[in-house]
Amino acid sequence: MAAEQLQMLGIVWAVGGAAVVAFLLATGRLTRKVGYLFLLISILLGFLIFSPMAPLQFQEVMSAVGKGVYTPLLFLAVMLAIFVIIALVAGRVFCGYLCPIGATQEAAHLAPVPKQKTAKEQRLFTYFRWGFVAVLIAAAILLSVSLLQFFGVRQFFTLQVASIFFFVFIGILVVALFVYRPFCRLFCPIGAILALASSRARMKIRRTKECINCGKCDMVCPTGEAGKTATKAECYLCGRCLEVCPREGALRYGKV
Ligand code: SF4
Ligand code: SF4
Repeated sequence: MAAEQLQMLGIVWAVGGAAVVAFLLATGRLTRKVGYLFLLISILLGFLIFSPMAPLQFQEVMSAVGKGVYTPLLFLAVMLAIFVIIALVAGRVFCGYLCPIGATQEAAHLAPVPKQKTAKEQRLFTYFRWGFVAVLIAAAILLSVSLLQFFGVRQFFTLQVASIFFFVFIGILVVALFVYRPFCRLFCPIGAILALASSRARMKIRRTKECINCGKCDMVCPTGEAGKTATKAECYLCGRCLEVCPREGALRYGKV
């Protein structure tokens, strides 16, 4: 199959999978095991067809613009519009389960090692990420430098073990063992955009009147998004809060 067809296959998985994950969440059927299955498929697709790789496509389009090539902008606009609409409806289902880069970090963070809590630093991370995205765009357009190429995503998923960048992504995964999704929360341009959309999502995990304010969801949420007034911009729909909630029906994914 041609590279474009494989890329499209990944995008179909992203869009179709997002609808299925949102449906499973809304009907209470997204168990941890089902979630792991989605993560596994997304990781495998990353290795097998290197798609969907939305952050890298964003970078490639910015680099093309820097070289005076504007035609891929339309592709980026359409792709982003689809992902933003999904996030406006269902939150960050793409980031949560369908992006191979996010899924790999999510899987790493499942490892039974002590975790570094970074929920309080989330706001700082968000500012940092927007700063990085601005530098990424400026570097691509003004200097023709693709900053994301230094993170080793391509080398990792295409198993270029002789490349130094392969080990940069390995390093990110080592950090992800302890810190929740470092690449997503600090560097990803798509994450920055989808966070904005997710904060206005129609469907979110929300507390109902059954909530007894025990605070257990707050304690397990890795991004500090379980609070009553949290925007859910950085909610990756990981399900940790749903899992620990002791009160039936106190936390629900549904219309806000
Ligand atoms: S934040 Fe970026 S890297 Fe992370 S899951 Fe979302 S699109 Fe993928
Ligand atoms: S613990 Fe709950 S609120 Fe926090 S990121 Fe996971 S699903 Fe979202």
